[in-house]
Amino acid sequence: MQAKEIRSKFISFFEEKGHKYVPSAPMVLKNDPTLMFTNAGMNQFKDLFLGNATADYTRAVNSQKCLRVSGKHNDLEEVGIDTYHHTMFEMLGNWSFGDYFKKEAIQWAWQLLTEVYGLPKDKLYVTVFEGDESEGLKFDQEAYDFWKEFIDESRILNGNKKDNFWEMGETGPCGPCSEIHIDLRSDEEIASVPGKDLVNNDHPQVVEIWNLVFMQFDRKADGRLENLPAQHIDTGMGFERLAMALQGKKSNYDTDVFTPLIDKIAGEAGVKYGEKEETDIAIRVIVDHIRAISFAIADGTLPSNNKAGYVIRRILRRAVRYGYTFLNFDSPFLYKLVDVLADQYKGFFDELDSQRELISKVIKEEETGFLRTLDNGLKRLEQIKDKLAFQNETIIEGREVFELYDTYGFPVDLTALIARENGLTIDEAGFNSAMAEQKNRSKADAASEKGDWTEILTDSKVEFVGYDQETAESRIIKYREIKEAKRTVYQIVLDKTPFYGESGGQVGDTGVLKSDSETLKVLDTQKENDLIVHFTDKLPSDPSATFKAEINSNRRSLIKFNHSATHLLHAALREVLGNHVQQKGSLVSDSILRFDFSHFSKVEPEQIEKIEQIVNARIRENIQLDEKRSVPIDEAKSLGAMALFGEKYGDFVRVITFNPKYSVELCGGTHVGATGNIGLFKIVSESAVAAGVRRIEAFTGPKAFEYVQEQEKELKSVKELLKNPKDLTKAITALMEEQKKLTKEIEGLHAKQSGQVKDDLKKEVAEVGGVNTLIQKVVLPSGDALKKLSFELKNEVNNLFAILAADIDGKPQISVIIDEALVKDKGLNAGQIVRDLAKNIKGGGGGQPFFATAGGKDISGLDKVVEEAQEITASFA
Ligand code: ATP
Ligand code: MG
Repeated sequence: MQAKEIRSKFISFFEEKGHKYVPSAPMVLKNDPTLMFTNAGMNQFKDLFLGNATADYTRAVNSQKCLRVSGKHNDLEEVGIDTYHHTMFEMLGNWSFGDYFKKEAIQWAWQLLTEVYGLPKDKLYVTVFEGDESEGLKFDQEAYDFWKEFIDESRILNGNKKDNFWEMGETGPCGPCSEIHIDLRSDEEIASVPGKDLVNNDHPQVVEIWNLVFMQFDRKADGRLENLPAQHIDTGMGFERLAMALQGKKSNYDTDVFTPLIDKIAGEAGVKYGEKEETDIAIRVIVDHIRAISFAIADGTLPSNNKAGYVIRRILRRAVRYGYTFLNFDSPFLYKLVDVLADQYKGFFDELDSQRELISKVIKEEETGFLRTLDNGLKRLEQIKDKLAFQNETIIEGREVFELYDTYGFPVDLTALIARENGLTIDEAGFNSAMAEQKNRSKADAASEKGDWTEILTDSKVEFVGYDQETAESRIIKYREIKEAKRTVYQIVLDKTPFYGESGGQVGDTGVLKSDSETLKVLDTQKENDLIVHFTDKLPSDPSATFKAEINSNRRSLIKFNHSATHLLHAALREVLGNHVQQKGSLVSDSILRFDFSHFSKVEPEQIEKIEQIVNARIRENIQLDEKRSVPIDEAKSLGAMALFGEKYGDFVRVITFNPKYSVELCGGTHVGATGNIGLFKIVSESAVAAGVRRIEAFTGPKAFEYVQEQEKELKSVKELLKNPKDLTKAITALMEEQKKLTKEIEGLHAKQSGQVKDDLKKEVAEVGGVNTLIQKVVLPSGDALKKLSFELKNEVNNLFAILAADIDGKPQISVIIDEALVKDKGLNAGQIVRDLAKNIKGGGGGQPFFATAGGKDISGLDKVVEEAQEITASFA
């Protein structure tokens, strides 16, 4: 059965059982401070489990893009080494939100695996939670009893808390689980070691394929388990592992999910997969990582130096490094896989297909940069090697290994490998302690202690009223304190709030919460999944009081100008540059708007002008805002609204339109009532963010006006300086030309002057003991002139020993020039002489034995230089 069919069978099986198909959420998360990447299918339903949100369905099915490279679920180091853990993988899942529980979950899982997919029953094992005393949790008898209706009791195994109690992260929904494992070994192997001894023992052919989680608890920050308001089902099956089982393979990489990629990369490298462990691992790492990287970029996360972008960068570098070391790639190769991958996912995850060019450009540029870094690192290693050879040592210090790791991105094993090839070893303990030191440093910086929420109103939901109101009568649902290394912040959730929580690029509102007895300042507002969290300067003394929540209305207006202008800009960009322009990032604040978009060359000045004209024309048209709050997603798309990749949309969306022929966007932000309010739009910069991604920054409203006034002021003062010429450009050009002419003239004069100086100097040459000596103070325009003069004198005067003490624009310089023959005969050294003399002018210098110069700070020392120089020549007598 082909992978595509396996996936669609899963989905239709549960659809037939009343499950709603919910598309995969983005792999990179935006509004969740506890999680950077989606690590399980349940993440997007977290708020449903916790009771923070509701949905109009109680059963769901989907295939979720997951990434397990950080936090509680981190498989990165295994990937490629083993054959069944990936960084990015698809998790097939079915859900019940307070609907069915263990009985149906178990029955349907069994039916799907054994009847629909036809997996042999005698190759399957299931596990149930054995209980845990320290948590006060009992053996899961219920699950055991349901299982034994389908499977021989000898195949039901007990599992401990590590394997059979599923938790998403340090806090959040969790519960006991039942896993289904499959034994893919040959009959002989099975006969010699029974499968049940290998379950949950890291055997590559006895693996877990499906986990059925019975969600019952919420793990609190202090470690307590609290009962959830209702019981839920959350299951997750590894799509790639299922494909392995159904296609009769012994490795995920032998399925049609990976073979097209493997064929491509093996071809590029000129090796065969399956011949040598070392190259096999490298190939697996590469075909695995390219998926994680491509999907992340498609979701709008470019490799970068912080947060999610940094994790993606590290994954990419791991792949490049394996290719570089084991497959001898020394130029970019990963990007060549993007087309294969995009073809493969067409029809299911279309975000790759529609962004092929961007994804491969970004990857190629990143690869090029890292290969250069690798090169620099190798050079640094060369230096270290030379130093060790000189010192007769063979161990690379831990500190240096760490430097290679930290600065050059060299993983320790790579350094060790290269060291070995050169007959060296590394100080691993030293490296580990340098690493630990850095970790401690960053931990101390980032440490924050999150307290649990103190709940005041337990049954209330958060309501955002900020589209219509700037104030609201509010009560506190819950609050908490967060201690960070340098400060403490306070978070408050209100039942009703006009405060916009940062999201979709728009910054959060600021303002105040006022009760009869006190006023709290709201310093920022953030979204945490569906919660709107107000960051305040202190905690309320009476949390059950009613507060008047009031946003800073002036600031909100400025934000609105920038947000609506961003929509107009987006439309104008597509009009001027073409429909390939897609939003790749956006910041809407009170001071500026920043818009990142895909486009493959610089936006030319004429195009910028055109874009500004269009946007300002739309502003003057004073187009009325058309805001629709709850449009079915398909209807919104048919209106022409574009969904952004990497954003999560519900079934109903908000649509913001400024003239349906012009700008229709899915947007949760706040906007002006009519475009005229924006006043003025002015682009202030255009630049590159990454290969294929450009950035425009612009001002609107009062800020744009101020900017134009500033520019005008500057222009005025320049004009005044030039005595208000009619044509400014012409006046400045003339000025520049005149300057050029004058410079030339001065150069001529200088040449003449030095000729004169030279002739005068030649008259001062005095013979001492057969040496033609010349010691003089001179005034010259530049250091170059001094050098030129010295060499000319040497050429024109035989057997010359000359020391010139020069005043160059008020700064002292010394030149010592000695005929080569004298250097040899008398063992003279200009470098040494100039260094000694330079002390008098508080300076230093050097050069060759026949010519050296020095500069200094103290011009009054030049007389002393001349004096000492004369002492030297006197010694020739
Ligand atoms: P394992 O013990 O094999 O790492 P897990 O206990 O971490 O698995 P779950 O968190 O229960 O797995 O995830 C549900 C399912 O997702 C697993 O049964 C497995 O089929 C699949 N899965 C988990 N991690 C990975 C991974 N890194 N790559 C591919 N599939 C995975
Ligand atoms: Mg795992």
